[in-house]
Amino acid sequence: MEGLPAPSILGTGGDATGANVARAVDILSRLIEFKTVCGGPNLDAVSYIAAYLAQYGVTSKIIHDPSGTKASILASIGPVGRPGVVLSAHTDVVPADDQNWSTPPFTASRRDGRVFGRGATDMKGFVALVLAHLPSFCAAKLTAPIHIAFSYDEELGCKGAPDLVAAVAALPAKPVLCIIGEPTKMRVVRGHKGKVARRITISGRGGHSAYPDRGANAVYAAAQIATGLRALGQESALREEAPGFDPRYATVHVGSLHGGTALNLVPEKAVLEFEIRFTPKTDIKALLRRVDLIVETALAPLQAVAPEAYAQMENMIDYPGLDIPAQSPATSIVQTLSGSKETPSTISFGTEAGLYAAAGIPSLVCGPGDIARAHIADEWIGTDELADASRMFDRLTALLSRPGWDALLQYQEAR
Ligand SMILES: [Zn+2]
Repeated sequence: MEGLPAPSILGTGGDATGANVARAVDILSRLIEFKTVCGGPNLDAVSYIAAYLAQYGVTSKIIHDPSGTKASILASIGPVGRPGVVLSAHTDVVPADDQNWSTPPFTASRRDGRVFGRGATDMKGFVALVLAHLPSFCAAKLTAPIHIAFSYDEELGCKGAPDLVAAVAALPAKPVLCIIGEPTKMRVVRGHKGKVARRITISGRGGHSAYPDRGANAVYAAAQIATGLRALGQESALREEAPGFDPRYATVHVGSLHGGTALNLVPEKAVLEFEIRFTPKTDIKALLRRVDLIVETALAPLQAVAPEAYAQMENMIDYPGLDIPAQSPATSIVQTLSGSKETPSTISFGTEAGLYAAAGIPSLVCGPGDIARAHIADEWIGTDELADASRMFDRLTALLSRPGWDALLQYQEAR
């Protein structure tokens, strides 16, 4: 396939890390060219990755979405009958439209020890590094497998991950650890909030504004729902503090409200979008029942006039939070692998880690680059950052080449 770096050329020269970083930069440059904007297709990138894996004799499982235009990819190196480690990433990126880039966003440009391009830090840099280490993964005598799991549409609220996570959890031996390589500057992240986002469409009854009592004003219902959600967010139960999260409590937020078409008409339709970001202390199911009640209460006056009035609730985003104990063996192993001196912490953005953790696979977030550079113009990653992450993969390879490393993990967990 065009653009595949030849391993025999790139594997030579310099120390092992230097060679792996050079190979990763070449692969990253290729990956940036695939315009895998979230919501759109990613099959070209997936085919490239599958062909690259096949060069090393690694077969991959491609998991398509219902439309068949995008897919996740799952591959394993080493003895699949033993519990191993998942390296998780997403292949999609956010759009670069209406951003003031110095160079074309979907062409990698290299300068001053940095690679610029959409997805460089979030998170094709990590994907490239995983692929760059494939020769060393394959050459090692692994006693436990390394699984590569790349998803799509993560940027739309982890939309592509559930099928992939299910496939990972159904592997012949369930993995005992997952590392999500989102940009954390190689700090180990053990927690983040979960998120639910929904769109509520209110349908009332239109009419002439001279006779408002004959209509069912959808804007009134939407406004009542908005103020109800605001009050819900200020309740003390929701404000229960979960240390380490920022803010420390769950939040309720209304992001948009649209309704009505003209002053002289009773609005027939209104649409409202809201989100809840919740901590491990939040009873999200109970909270969502409260939201249902707010909607029912706001709708009742409309239905009294217009029995056909209704509210429709649509799920936009739904992913669980992450809360891996600081003292857990999974945390301490990833801390050792990362080489980070910082205490494992929490982050304010969501990842696919919560989905893996919910499937019973201890998951931590740790990867090269800085989330502050994600989603903006002139996104970049430094080769020094790639080198730090490359050393994490070397330590991982060494760890998984030891006999019985997973038994150690289970022993520590049982203590
Ligand atoms: Zn990301």
